[in-house]
Amino acid sequence: MSELRWNPQLRQWVIVAAHRQDRTHLPPAEFCPLCPTLPGAFPTEVPAEDYEIVVFENKFPSLTLPPAELGALDSELYKTAPAAGICEVVLYSSEHNSSLAEASVEHIRNLIEVWTDRYLELGSKEEVEYVYIFENKGEAIGVTLSHPHGQIYAMPFIPPVIATELASARQHKEERGTCLYCDILQEETKDGSRLVVENEFFAAFVPFFARYPYEVHLYPKRHLQSFAHFTDEEKQGLAQTLKELLVKYDELFGFSLPYIMAIHQAPTKGEHGEYHFHFEFYPLNRTATKLKYLAGVESGAGTFITDMSPEDQAKKLRGE
Ligand SMILES: [Zn+2]
Ligand SMILES: [Zn+2]
Ligand SMILES: [Zn+2]
Repeated sequence: MSELRWNPQLRQWVIVAAHRQDRTHLPPAEFCPLCPTLPGAFPTEVPAEDYEIVVFENKFPSLTLPPAELGALDSELYKTAPAAGICEVVLYSSEHNSSLAEASVEHIRNLIEVWTDRYLELGSKEEVEYVYIFENKGEAIGVTLSHPHGQIYAMPFIPPVIATELASARQHKEERGTCLYCDILQEETKDGSRLVVENEFFAAFVPFFARYPYEVHLYPKRHLQSFAHFTDEEKQGLAQTLKELLVKYDELFGFSLPYIMAIHQAPTKGEHGEYHFHFEFYPLNRTATKLKYLAGVESGAGTFITDMSPEDQAKKLRGE
């Protein structure tokens, strides 16, 4: 069973994917389904002895095309909708014990081409309103397979975080005539105390309003909406910036830092010239041994409390 249920309290969709409980959970490395298939060994998801980057449909998708039949549980108040969409897995490397931080700039550059291709291809499907590219990294985040990989959800609606960001961008534009994100970027690069990595094309910083420990946002300096608008130079610049940032993350506590990586792009239907492409990273480690949990105030009231100033977090990330 898989369907969308409308939460009328928060005015947002919930994906009910009741079949996902029996997913493969952290198999031993020699039975990793994301490694290449070696001669004479068990067949993995990838029927090849080696690979660079591979994309395939998630075996346990929350969204499918065609979507599952709807149950008959909806009412006037309780709306349901088909869980239409596509869930893909992106394998970053055939190397089981590696991470994006260890990949070469050239390899990351190739991954950016893959992300661009998937954004355009999935976004062109009639049922898809939003292509969400992300990575859950590390067991602390609840990753069920440790092989380096990211995911893509091609969704039949614009998810609430993006909807809020779009509304903020529109309102800011109406009030001041400028792009909210270009203005944030200007504030962050002018002040500089929260910058982590900066070059000609990109800036990565702990935002003034960060919610997670060592949260970093990465913006292109040019006002653009999606991977589709990147020039070759910008793709190269992004690969370099990502590499530098991820290395800094791993240097922070001396181990491969668990995080959520969210790529925020414009929806794939309609005009969204007011939006500004960016990455958001949410690590979970407050210290080398302590994790940040979303507890009562965060989960129950939606207000985040951070225990280190964003300026100090940026300083630590810069290695000062
Ligand atoms: Zn593996
Ligand atoms: Zn902008
Ligand atoms: Zn965002």
